[in-house]
Amino acid sequence: MRGFSHPPMHRGEKSFGIQMLSVQPDTKPKGCAGCNRKIKDRYLLKALDKYWHEDCLKCACCDCRLGEVGSTLYTKANLILCRRDYLRLFGVTGNCAACSKLIPAFEMVMRAKDNVYHLDCFACQLCNQRFCVGDKFFLKNNMILCQTDYEEGLMKEGYVAQVR
Ligand SMILES: [Zn+2]
Ligand SMILES: [Zn+2]
Ligand SMILES: [Zn+2]
Ligand SMILES: [Zn+2]
Repeated sequence: MRGFSHPPMHRGEKSFGIQMLSVQPDTKPKGCAGCNRKIKDRYLLKALDKYWHEDCLKCACCDCRLGEVGSTLYTKANLILCRRDYLRLFGVTGNCAACSKLIPAFEMVMRAKDNVYHLDCFACQLCNQRFCVGDKFFLKNNMILCQTDYEEGLMKEGYVAQVR
């Protein structure tokens, strides 16, 4: 398999945007999805296709106002959560395919196929060359290889298998 390296990412993250809108004075007040009262403030938040008071769009865990901490929210099992709590509760830990050590849910990872890697471990496993975003890498026998080592391995058949 060959691939191109991408910017590091969190795994399986599902976030939704929050928009802050100013309320037009001549429109009918919208109902808040949090408290079911009409929104008479000058500003309201729009998220998940619903309208919210600025005070009502809160993280179910830590009560922080989501419109303030960022422009995204996370949901799972009908809970609305901030990023920190979402990752704490639902972030999946996994093992790094290179060093086999556990990767905590908070940490950024690199991916190749179904494998995840520590940022520091995502390098050619023969010459330790690090990959920049957009660089080509190859996955052979579950080892990450740079182009040079991959092509050398193809020329000397069986070379990669012996190194393992
Ligand atoms: Zn409300
Ligand atoms: Zn929170
Ligand atoms: Zn690692
Ligand atoms: Zn290499």
